[in-house]
Amino acid sequence: MRTLSIVIPVYNEQDSLSLFLEAARPAVGRALALIGPDARAEYLFVNDGSSDRTGDILTILARLNPDISVVTLSRNFGKEAALAAGIDHASGDAVIPIDVDLQDPPEVIVDMVRHWLAGAQVVNARRSDRSTDGWFKRTSARGFYRLLNRLSDYPIPENVGDFRLLDRQAVDVIKQLGEQARFNKGLFSWIGFRVATVDYVRAARGTGTTKWRLGKLWSLAIDGITASTTMPLRIWSYIGGGIACLAFAYAAFLVAHTITTGVDTPGYASIMVAVLGLGGLNLLSLGIIGEYLGRVAREVRQRPLYVVADQSTVPVAPVAEPI
Ligand code: UDP
Ligand code: MG
Repeated sequence: MRTLSIVIPVYNEQDSLSLFLEAARPAVGRALALIGPDARAEYLFVNDGSSDRTGDILTILARLNPDISVVTLSRNFGKEAALAAGIDHASGDAVIPIDVDLQDPPEVIVDMVRHWLAGAQVVNARRSDRSTDGWFKRTSARGFYRLLNRLSDYPIPENVGDFRLLDRQAVDVIKQLGEQARFNKGLFSWIGFRVATVDYVRAARGTGTTKWRLGKLWSLAIDGITASTTMPLRIWSYIGGGIACLAFAYAAFLVAHTITTGVDTPGYASIMVAVLGLGGLNLLSLGIIGEYLGRVAREVRQRPLYVVADQSTVPVAPVAEPI
């Protein structure tokens, strides 16, 4: 018997839950039909510390439907941690993380499963059209992925979100990655395996409002860069080396100039420019080193990524790390 785990992190989504299930069930049913007569689905909701009625509704849904289970986190840990909790607790042979707001169309699951049955271990879903996201989000996302891929040690596909299919083998590898500063898109790409891609059009959010504020997106971006790159750390040796070479050349020029034309020491302006410029660079490089160092400090504390407060079913897998 093969199981498909649909993992859905939810945070204050009381209005989206039943709409999501209504839309997802037929699509997942078609995907199961492709797999075989004894295939079944598991809907695993991760309640990421919701403060509205999401928790109550999920409890009722789980009681009424044997294929729905709920993991409740003890507070809002953020989508990346909630998704990690879902992946840790999913028992299926393939795991599909999906947003509850129907921006990831459930019909794509059928295509994903088709590729999975054909042998792919990771099936990415690429948004071919993001016109429903605002102009700012689109442009900033594009710029960010350009930069990230320039810097990153491994390619992270643009326009691919968390919505994808992960084979059990890939999931088991991801579960071993205990990184604190989660950037799932980076981890999903880092693991490798046989990858297939399906294209889809990103829908507008069904109900509710986006849970990402600009500040959160910014820290996700910084997490993404520091989790997948070391280039920003190394670059300072080259910048420093370059500036030192220029300084030596300028010193040689000054010596020659003084010897040939006599003593002359104007230059308050040039000194100020050099001092302020280099001071700024110093602070910038220290700040970047600080970003990485802060993450090292977080890793060293060894806290778990999330805390499970309650679980509607018997645990199918242990929580990643002891508390
Ligand atoms: N989400 C979550 N915890 C958070 C923020 C969001 O579990 O702290 C969930 C949310 O309920 C939804 C998914 O992550 O299922 C995507 O959130 P949203 O639609 O707000 O993000 P966007 O689509 O704007 O990137
Ligand atoms: Mg959304």
